[in-house]
Amino acid sequence: MNDSRKIKIGILGAGISGLSIGQLLKDKFDIEILESKPVCGGIARTTDVNGIAYHTIGGHCFNSKYEDVLSFVFGQILPLDQWNKIERKSKIKFHDYEVDYPIEFSIKQIYEHDKELAKRLTIDFLNSEDDGKYANLEEWFEKKFGKSFATEYFIPYNSKIWKNDPKKMSYLWVEDKLPIPDKDSFFEGLISNTKDKMSHARFYYPKSNNQNTFLDALAKNLNIKYNYTVSSIEHNKDSNKWVINKKDEFDLIINTTPLDKLIDCFSDAPADVQASAKSLRKNGVSNVLWKTQSTDKTWTYIPNKDYLFHRYIHIGSYFSPKENYSVSEVIGNHSFEEMAKAGQSDNFLIEPLAHSISEYAYVVFDENYDKSTKSVKDYLQNIGIYTLGRFGEWQYYNMDVCIKKAIDLSKTITDKYLKV
Ligand SMILES: Cc1cc2nc3c(=O)[nH]c(=O)nc-3n(C[C@H](O)[C@H](O)[C@H](O)COP(=O)(O)OP(=O)(O)OC[C@H]3O[C@@H](n4cnc5c(N)ncnc54)[C@H](O)[C@@H]3O)c2cc1C
Repeated sequence: MNDSRKIKIGILGAGISGLSIGQLLKDKFDIEILESKPVCGGIARTTDVNGIAYHTIGGHCFNSKYEDVLSFVFGQILPLDQWNKIERKSKIKFHDYEVDYPIEFSIKQIYEHDKELAKRLTIDFLNSEDDGKYANLEEWFEKKFGKSFATEYFIPYNSKIWKNDPKKMSYLWVEDKLPIPDKDSFFEGLISNTKDKMSHARFYYPKSNNQNTFLDALAKNLNIKYNYTVSSIEHNKDSNKWVINKKDEFDLIINTTPLDKLIDCFSDAPADVQASAKSLRKNGVSNVLWKTQSTDKTWTYIPNKDYLFHRYIHIGSYFSPKENYSVSEVIGNHSFEEMAKAGQSDNFLIEPLAHSISEYAYVVFDENYDKSTKSVKDYLQNIGIYTLGRFGEWQYYNMDVCIKKAIDLSKTITDKYLKV
């Protein structure tokens, strides 16, 4: 096709992925974004609670190892001088004391509290044998970090955050997500103050003290239809158009909405694909925003299985000047009353202010993951639908990876449809 303006692209969902691909294609194609909510931003959106930006899901800091993502965000969307750069300061509530995250560089701190445990963690780490073969996530932790780190920290924390037994989970998602020291850097950590080198050691947060500033900048000049829930998708063979909700026609569709529900929109999807979509597993989260005591930490991880929350996100530390607010997070549906009660056992949490429950937060990499995601994605590819994003690809993507995937897909689509 020569005149790309005539190619109408429907983008399903106005989260980070839909907004990014919309920005990247809007000058070359006729773009319309269909979003079920009255606002854009999806998972990353905040709501206002007494003037504080409350992340109803997680707490969203931004950084990236991808140069093209950084230049897209700071060059085209929200200039670098509109962001604060914040140093990560994360702690782990380990037994009855706190140590720095990542734990494998905190042997000296553990030694101050429990000499025997520090020795055991060290010996097991140095004796661990990694042959590159892992039956499941539990074995991956044992071979990468040694038995003691696995049983003392990684397995309890991951059992909590995935609400699943690491023995029944795939390890495939984890490599990019955790700092993995080799024996040399672990040893250096023992004798010096070496820390890990993750891309999130420093991160950016908008100077407005609200992530919505970034999301609104990402939505600028985009054609978005709000309050529009996509419920059916059909292909009209005569016109060669996709018809959404029996009324809106598009030449191409890019999906960013969750794959498990998307398949319900196709009345003719084969039974095995529908079954695969139904078997995709995810976890939702419940959050409470708290007024807290003062802290300079950015996150606290809590592996203790007897304590409801697995993590505090000290959102007030993202702000400038800092404020005393944190978000406590737990997997699954938990009421305000239950969460407020659980928080009473920690003096750090002063007053619960707001509560939210969300259905989609974490993709679960269970034993069916590979087979089910392949079946659904192959189906979409065969019928010519592009799919993108955290739940659009059923991946553990951060915002920057969603943007990276949008950049790559925009090139694929431009190359394919703008070639004369
Ligand atoms: C707890 C938690 C903490 C996180 N913390 C960070 C962090 O600190 N830093 C970071 O970079 N990333 C973080 N992330 C990841 C980040 O939130 C995601 O990568 C990103 O927001 C996903 O964007 P998306 O557009 O792919 O999906 P979504 O945000 O889910 O967007 C999908 C959109 O589709 C819409 N939609 C759904 N169904 C329909 C339908 N039928 N019709 C029309 N519209 C529909 C939804 O309303 C939504 O707006 C975190 C995620 C979680 C869960």
